Amino acid sequence: MKRSLLIGLWLLFMVSLAWGQGRYRPGDVVPEPFLKVYGFQVFFRSSSIPEPVKTKMEGCSYKEMAGICWDDLRYLQVLHRDADGNAIVGEMVCNSRIAEDLMEIFRSLFLAGYPIERMRLVDVYGGDDEASMRDNNTSCFNQRQITAGGMLSRHSFGMAVDINPRYNPYYQVKNGQTIIEPAGSEEFVDREGQSPYKIKKGDLCYRLFRQHGFHWGGDWTRYKDYQHFESSQTSNRYE
Ligand SMILES: [Zn+2]
Repeated sequence: MKRSLLIGLWLLFMVSLAWGQGRYRPGDVVPEPFLKVYGFQVFFRSSSIPEPVKTKMEGCSYKEMAGICWDDLRYLQVLHRDADGNAIVGEMVCNSRIAEDLMEIFRSLFLAGYPIERMRLVDVYGGDDEASMRDNNTSCFNQRQITAGGMLSRHSFGMAVDINPRYNPYYQVKNGQTIIEPAGSEEFVDREGQSPYKIKKGDLCYRLFRQHGFHWGGDWTRYKDYQHFESSQTSNRYE
């Protein structure tokens, strides 16, 4: 009798867990009571790219290209906290070589309450990197050229991540011309100002990425890309 009651309660727990997980989609805030009962871990998952996600990515962030194929990529689901402390479901597509590193980094950032405002696929913005950056969207995979032009970005191989890009812009002075991306982020080129989303050298985000073998664009000298962390590994094909 007691045993069947326990099994019944366990089944009820599992059914309600599955119901709860399915209820919260990328971009949704997960209520704290749900996290208290079921734990945060159920929201951290890494998988091959689900078919509906492939459909959204095709011809948008993903194009037929030498050096990358679906099997090289992973779909991550994580939780992150915004500056108000809300726990939000985030999603990201990355190269399988860095998937476990990113899962560990985002788990640590979530547990520490490090603020990340938004984490959706660039396909939500039609693959438009500028629109994604303006919306302060944290993202990884997108087949495109580097801002300076002429070669493919490491985002094209899912080997680079942009964190809170609106507050951590790209900055370059070229032939007397100043380039700042995204537009409207001019004030954040000054790294002394205060913003909860600003990456500071030595902060938790910086330290975690460095520990996992990533380089930070804020350390570069020819130009600055404060949002950008890229893996020092090569991707799994012929990048
Ligand atoms: Zn980047």
